[in-house]
Parts: sequence; structure tokens; C-alpha cells
Amino acid sequence: MRALIVVDVQNDFCPGGSLATARGAEVAEALTPFLREARSRGLYPVVAGTKDWHIDPGDHFAAEGQEPDFEESWPVHCVAGTRGAQAHPGLDTSMVDAWFLKGEHSAAYSGFEGHLEGARDSLAQWLRDRGATDVDVCGIATDFCVRATALDAVAEGFRVRVISDLCAPVTAGGGAVAFNQMAYVGVELVESGDLVGPNA
Ligand SMILES: [Zn+2]
Repeated sequence: MRALIVVDVQNDFCPGGSLATARGAEVAEALTPFLREARSRGLYPVVAGTKDWHIDPGDHFAAEGQEPDFEESWPVHCVAGTRGAQAHPGLDTSMVDAWFLKGEHSAAYSGFEGHLEGARDSLAQWLRDRGATDVDVCGIATDFCVRATALDAVAEGFRVRVISDLCAPVTAGGGAVAFNQMAYVGVELVESGDLVGPNA
């Protein structure tokens, strides 16, 4: 069975947010019709969403008065419970079965570092308990949390595809490098039209 993991489609990672990607809102808005069509075709019996969810993540946030380097230190973003940490309104959250939160007290790029909202279950265990052997990954940002989640999914033994047009990068160059790195470890790159288009 194939599950879908929707990575960090949150307001702060979309235009208007504190750590916006150029294509974040576009991805959020494209995900809703994709998910409706995919689920109507029975493609994803389960859909997991991840959220960057920071309480006090240490040096993941640039210190006050310091410039973030946008590699390891970042502007304040996705603070637990704030609007910036909520799912982007373009994404129909009724399509997501469970949310996994990550990064409360330290940086966490991979959804596999998270835990089920309100519980301790790991994403890998939750997926296996539901019979998932394969996962598709999409979301924000291609070059950070999508990459880390896809690489961890491979390491956890899942067969992994990334839906490239449903991902938004921090930088175009970083996104391209990330797709190469994912492909190198066996991630299959697909496009949403291949999965739900008229010829799918
Ligand atoms: Zn973060």
C-alpha cells in the first residue's frame, strides 16, 4: 500500500510568511485538487501531514541581532500554536488523516523525526501499522524538509517517490540539487499529472 506524506505546507513557508518559498502557496493550492482526485482513485489509503512546530529550537533560529545563514540558522518560523505554523488555507486539511509534529526543542528537517500530534507514535511506525510499503512525498521545502523526509523514508525501507511539481524549494538551485540527491539513493521522481492526469 502506498501512503502520501505532505511535508510542512504551513503559512510561514508560503508568501507572506516569515520563511516564504516563492511557490509555497501554489503548491498548497495544487495539492487540494490533486488529493481529491488521487483519493477518489484510491491512490492513497492514508495521508500523513508534517508540521515544523517550534517551541524553543535553540540555534535553529538565528540569535537576536544575527543574520540567519539560511542553511542552519533561520528567521523565527512555525512557532507552535501561531498562525505561521498552521497549514496553508489552500490545503484542504480534511484530506490529511494525521499530523506529525517536529522540531519542538531542536532543528528537525525530516518528518520521521516527528511524532503523532497528541501522542508519541513515530511516522515510520504509524505508516507500517497501516500497511504502507511505499510512500509518495511532496511539500515544502524541496531542498530541506522534503529532501530529509524522502531520504529517511528510503532509510526506513519504504519504496519512495517524490512528486516534483508539488514541491517548493527555498532556492531553485537547491531544489535541483536535492532532486539529484534523492534520485541518487533510489527515490523515483514523478509528476502529479503522471499519477492523476487523463493518461494516468
Ligand atoms: Zn524549522
